[in-house]
Amino acid sequence: MSHADGRIALRVEDLRVHFHTERGPVRAVEGVGFELYAGERLGLVGESGSGKTTTAMALMRLIRTPGRIESGRVQLGDLELLSLSDEQMRQARFARISLIPQGVMNSLNPVMRVGAQIIDTIQAHQEGLTREQLQERVHELLGFVELDPSTAQMYPHELSGGMKQRVGMAISVALRPQVIIADEPTSALDVVVQKRVMDTLFRVQKDLDAAVILVGHDMGLMAQCVDRLGVMYAGRLVEIGPIQQLLEEPQHPYTRLLVSSLPSLERKGVFRGIPGITPSLLDPPPGCPFHPRCPEAIDGCSTQVPELLTVVAGSEKDDTRLQQLAACHLHTGVDA
Ligand code: SF4
Repeated sequence: MSHADGRIALRVEDLRVHFHTERGPVRAVEGVGFELYAGERLGLVGESGSGKTTTAMALMRLIRTPGRIESGRVQLGDLELLSLSDEQMRQARFARISLIPQGVMNSLNPVMRVGAQIIDTIQAHQEGLTREQLQERVHELLGFVELDPSTAQMYPHELSGGMKQRVGMAISVALRPQVIIADEPTSALDVVVQKRVMDTLFRVQKDLDAAVILVGHDMGLMAQCVDRLGVMYAGRLVEIGPIQQLLEEPQHPYTRLLVSSLPSLERKGVFRGIPGITPSLLDPPPGCPFHPRCPEAIDGCSTQVPELLTVVAGSEKDDTRLQQLAACHLHTGVDA
C-alpha cells in the first residue's frame, strides 16, 4: 500500500457529464465529487455504464460530442482543469495529469517504432531537446517500466501484450505527471502478467510521488491494490472510504452486494451476482437510482435522492482520508 500524506492532489466537485441523444440527455455522470490525496491510490469501481470511465475521461477533458461536461470543478494544484483553454489543457495532459486508457496496447501506432512514439509525446510538450537527450529520455523511460532499451527499435507487433502495456505506461508517464489515471490497465492480460504490470505501475507511481486513480470493475484487484475505494452506480458515487473498512463494513446496500459477491474460500469462488438490471441513464428511476434493485429499500427511497454524506468518521475525526461516506437513506432517514 502507498502512504498518502493528507495533501490533496485533485479535488473533483459536482461533476456532471451528459450525452445528448435524439431521445434526450443520457446522464452518464451526475454530481460526482471526491478528493484524491497526494501519493494515494484511489479505486473507482462499478458495473459497465456506472460512469467510472466517463468520469476518468472528463477529468482529462477528453469527452467527445455528443457528450458534454455540464458542470463541475476539477482542481489540480493551482489549475482548475474545466476552465482551462483547449491549448492550456493540452499542455496539462501528460505533464500534470495523465491517462493510461483502456486498451492502451491497441492505441500504439502500428507503423511507428516504440522509441519514436515516446519521442512524439515528449516533443509535443518540450521543445529544444537534442536528438541525444531525447534518446537518453527514451532509454530512461523504458528502463523505468522495466523494458530493455532495445525495445525502442521495435514495432508494436513485435511486442507481447504485457510489453505493449508497459510502453503505453512509459508514454503516459513520460512527463512525470502528479496524477495518473489508469482505466482497466490490465484487463486484457493474463493474471501473472497483470500482477507484474500493476507492480510496475505502483513502483513508477512511488518514484514519481504521484497519485493514482485506478478505474475498474474487478473488486478483487481493487482489494489488493488501492488505499481507498469509490463505488459508482448509475452515474453517481454511492460510497467512498478506506478499502479495508469498506470491505469489512460496507455502508451502502449496493456495496454490500458487491462485497458479498466476491469469491472467497467459504463461498468456493462462486460469484452470486446482483439481481436486477442496471437502470437506464436516459430515463433514470426517481429517488435513489438503486431502489428498483435494493433489498433494503424503505419508504421514500423511490422519491428522494440520497446525498453522499459521512457515515463513519474514522478514528481521527479531522482526517478526511479515514472517513467513509455513503449515499443512502438508511443512514439519514427520509423527509416526511
Ligand atoms: Fe436502498 Fe434506499 Fe439506500 Fe437507495 S437509499 S440504497 S434504495 S436503502
